[in-house]
Amino acid sequence: MTKKKTKREALPSLKSLHNKLWKLTKEEVRFLYPWNKCYICGSVITKKKKSHTGHLFKIGSLPLQLKYDLRLLRPCCVTCNLFKNGNESWYMIKMIKEVGLPEVLNLVDDIEKTVDLEGTVARRDWYLQAINDLKLPRVTPLTKPKI
Ligand SMILES: [Zn+2]
Repeated sequence: MTKKKTKREALPSLKSLHNKLWKLTKEEVRFLYPWNKCYICGSVITKKKKSHTGHLFKIGSLPLQLKYDLRLLRPCCVTCNLFKNGNESWYMIKMIKEVGLPEVLNLVDDIEKTVDLEGTVARRDWYLQAINDLKLPRVTPLTKPKI
């Protein structure tokens, strides 16, 4: 008697999808902002003092669809990101100086009107699409914003 083997494809966990998307997102931020200094405080980031990717608003306060939004992300130092809890006040001031207050207010509007996705299936589908979108080849050279 032989047992019939059924092979079930395991769906990726939300945690693994987050890890994959966050890795791609960080690479994208490094590509867009190839600076060797912290966006927030201006301190020099060396290989030893690794660059972090900071959120304009705390990641936990954002709906899933905006947690990886490149408009909200910039390279920053460990001190600002971890020890100063994101250094949000200065981050906000730098962002207003970079993109202007109307653009920052548009971001706030987007956050307020975005309904967070609920349910594993909807979140998994969103992650898969976002990962796929970030894997698309870059076709246009991007201009480097001034800081
Ligand atoms: Zn800093």
